[in-house]
Amino acid sequence: MNFALPDELVIWQNRVREFVRTQLQPHDASIEQTGLVPESAMAGLRSMGLFGTNTPREHGGLGLSMLGSCLAIEELAKAHAAFYYLCGVNVHIGSKAIEFHARPEIRDRWLPDLARGRVIAAFALTEPEAGSDAARITTRVRRDGANYILNGRKTYITNAPVAGVLTVFATHDASAGAKGISAFAIDARTAGLRIGRAIEMAAGRGSAHAEVIFEDCRVPRSCLLGEEGAGFGIAMRCLDAGRTHWGAYCVGAASQLLSHALEHVSRRETFGRRLRDHQGIEWTIADMAASLHAARLVAYEAAWRYDRGDAAERTAAAALSKYTGAEMVQRVADTTLQLFGGSGYSKDLPIERIWRETRVVRILDGTSEMMRQIIARNAFRTFDRKNAPN
Ligand SMILES: Cc1cc2nc3c(=O)[nH]c(=O)nc-3n(C[C@H](O)[C@H](O)[C@H](O)COP(=O)(O)OP(=O)(O)OC[C@H]3O[C@@H](n4cnc5c(N)ncnc54)[C@H](O)[C@@H]3O)c2cc1C
Repeated sequence: MNFALPDELVIWQNRVREFVRTQLQPHDASIEQTGLVPESAMAGLRSMGLFGTNTPREHGGLGLSMLGSCLAIEELAKAHAAFYYLCGVNVHIGSKAIEFHARPEIRDRWLPDLARGRVIAAFALTEPEAGSDAARITTRVRRDGANYILNGRKTYITNAPVAGVLTVFATHDASAGAKGISAFAIDARTAGLRIGRAIEMAAGRGSAHAEVIFEDCRVPRSCLLGEEGAGFGIAMRCLDAGRTHWGAYCVGAASQLLSHALEHVSRRETFGRRLRDHQGIEWTIADMAASLHAARLVAYEAAWRYDRGDAAERTAAAALSKYTGAEMVQRVADTTLQLFGGSGYSKDLPIERIWRETRVVRILDGTSEMMRQIIARNAFRTFDRKNAPN
């Protein structure tokens, strides 16, 4: 087993790291104040290819492996979360359904523009009464000649107000559960599709989350992704990519927090010595570094398994990575804030912002409880297989 990254990925990692340090981080404070992401930063994200890291070259992306994509996301996570919501979400849940399941004319209509950041995508699954239990969605779809007609309401949809295209999930028959769901790539300008209430979140200024409302929204049959009834599986496949990326995001954010913590405890003195020279603080730093290192290994393994293409392995590894990363970064964020004392809790420093930003990873793209359900069910499957009578 070789733990060294290939040379070309190390070069790529360093390029993104430098870009984030010089072109994105300088805007962090102003985005938090104004909620505006400067166009110059968006142009930089586009020219770096960060809207299409993992999208194949023939569709306008960089054609990187999932590992290459995760390395970029890890670096991106060291800047304000708005950048990740805008371009990282595009890479996975925003464009994967179109990449994998759209008819060629629909794929060619959207994917190159998505990969180059000329169009932003949204993924509309969650509804007011169906989040974790996504098979219970009630947004209805019915066929009408050469069209489909959708009615219903989605909520918390990231990028909805700025999206040019949405991957939308709707049911032909709510009583059929997961088997009744289909997925559609819908132009945001389609009549009958309306962006509803914007939802203010605890963090992530500069990004937008909103309701999406469908009122007799008529779309051509070519917008169907995959086959009728395949939508739930398509959603889960997109979420595997999302969860793998979120695992890497947590590693990047935690690594940024640890850097802040190391700098602070090396400078700040109490009781006649630097904080780092108190054994209690040393152990705290050790716990942060150890949990970060473990989560990074899990995140890279998930990326590697994603690239190997086995669906069951991919789903299991993605859940493990998101769960491990989300819980780890929360502990690291809280500990860092504690190490900074009052200044960590104040708005003078970025610590409290990162603490709020990283909290959401335990909720979106599948909560930590749902990730634990996947992990436990895998464990039970293995146990049952081993103990099955011959
Ligand atoms: C910032 C943000 C951005 C988002 N972006 C998008 C987006 O772009 N597209 C989209 O479709 N959705 C999006 N979401 C929605 C997100 O995916 C859901 O919030 C999430 O899936 C949880 O669903 P819920 O909020 O309905 O909680 P619920 O499903 O109601 O769950 C509530 C709590 O109960 C727990 N729970 C539920 N069932 C069980 C169980 N069987 N066992 C143990 N615990 C359980 C959950 O883990 C959770 O803690 C976003 C949410 C946020 C906060």
